[in-house]
Amino acid sequence: MAQYDYDLFVIGAGSGGVRAARLAAMSGARVAIAEEDRVGGTCVIRGCVPKKFMVYASEFAHHFKTSKGYGWTVEGASFDWPAFLAEKDKEIARLSGIYVRNLQNAGAELAHGKARLLDAHTVEVGKIGKRTADKILIATGGRPWRPADLPGVEHAISSDDCFHLPKLPKSIVIGGGGYIAVEFAGIFNGLGVDVTLVHRGPNVLRGFDDDVRSHVTEEMEKRGITVILAAQHTAIEKTANGFMNKLSNGHECESELVMLCLGREPYVEGLGLEKAGVKLNEQGAVAVDEYSRTNVSNIWAVGDVTDRINLTPVAIREGQAFAQTEFYDTPTSFDHEMVASAVFSQPPIGSVGLSEADARKQYGKVDIYLARMKPMKYAFAGSDERALLKLVVDCATDKVLGCHVVGPDAPEMIQMAAIAMKMGVTKHQWDATCAVHPTLAEELVTMREKHEPLGLGQVA
Ligand code: FAD
Repeated sequence: MAQYDYDLFVIGAGSGGVRAARLAAMSGARVAIAEEDRVGGTCVIRGCVPKKFMVYASEFAHHFKTSKGYGWTVEGASFDWPAFLAEKDKEIARLSGIYVRNLQNAGAELAHGKARLLDAHTVEVGKIGKRTADKILIATGGRPWRPADLPGVEHAISSDDCFHLPKLPKSIVIGGGGYIAVEFAGIFNGLGVDVTLVHRGPNVLRGFDDDVRSHVTEEMEKRGITVILAAQHTAIEKTANGFMNKLSNGHECESELVMLCLGREPYVEGLGLEKAGVKLNEQGAVAVDEYSRTNVSNIWAVGDVTDRINLTPVAIREGQAFAQTEFYDTPTSFDHEMVASAVFSQPPIGSVGLSEADARKQYGKVDIYLARMKPMKYAFAGSDERALLKLVVDCATDKVLGCHVVGPDAPEMIQMAAIAMKMGVTKHQWDATCAVHPTLAEELVTMREKHEPLGLGQVA
């Protein structure tokens, strides 16, 4: 093994790469990790973390409105975008610093620069030069995809740009209907921007339960977001005040800013995969098996670059499983079943397991338990915001196949539901759980039949 400079060379210091590098180095292996940007990757620098800060910042407008119903008067409230950005950047720098320290404390060497493979054991990193390694892990993540043939596409920003806008626009048109588009629609709306969401599909959030999708669309519209479905940009033209959005349904609207969130693609450009003989799948992602092994025996890949489930905790667990398998002599493959997810829309979503449509396809006969209600906090304040809770249950086995929540704290709730569902909970066991009152979550354990309850939480 001494024939190589390192036992492991990791390309990409994001969620998956950092976890793998750190664990491998802690086992005593000689590890290097290359990063062309800032350590922390998408999640810390331009994804989950700064986005969640923006969600928090934008929610205050709604809280101020609700507070009136509780007797508060909030006068002269205003939002200072540059001040918020400065605080956000401070926190991101702090978190990135923690990642760097954790790597260094574990004994991993950090190489700043873009890495590219020269062959299956050789990596070249920017000005640092060539390094050899016994094992190589590709953890280069993904990046925003944009249609190169859309006229005026260069005028549109992506989610990467949202974290450094010099000022908030008065209006924005967001193209896309995935979770990033929906989350930013809520963020900009909360910050007082006039938001239009344009999505080519019949509803936003493809892949989520249909009731959840409709519910969230309705709630977004209640908050003043214009949602245009079954349409997409055909051109973006520069105007004196911003941009003209030309849509496939003939509609035209002007906005100060245009943002496209049309999906993400595995980031493999300039990586030299062909030199090492690493194969991509049909979607352009690095093809791997359940142990994250590529077709080249000493090269692995984890995280978004493999396009399995593109979420931070998944990238971390894939990186961890790789390190356990290769450096701790404990063969481990991450189980991609029952991974819960959240959308930090306003109101937010928590979801785990199958949608009703997928459950019907896979299991045939399913029971649906559905509740829509006004969350106590908002009903008291005279708001017509509604929450949705839904369970999908297999008729044959009574197993809970899907749990979907839209409403305050849904992302927090779903983490707990995911534990039970990962353990294979039945509806009978679910119902045997005593409620926590008064909460929205209690509706989850008090739904006995498919119905529309009228109450606010549990009525004695
Ligand atoms: P990344 O974190 O993207 O890390 C890859 C790293 O590799 C990057 O730092 C990149 O600079 C570096 N790199 C790439 N190529 C090279 C090279 N050739 N040489 C050197 N370095 C290189 N997930 C959630 O779970 N919850 C959320 O709320 C959430 N919100 C998101 C919001 C947004 C706006 C976005 C864009 C993503 C969000 N995600 C969220 C997804 C999450 O960020 C990713 O799934 C996760 O970061 C993937 O980790 P990774 O290690 O695969 O890649």
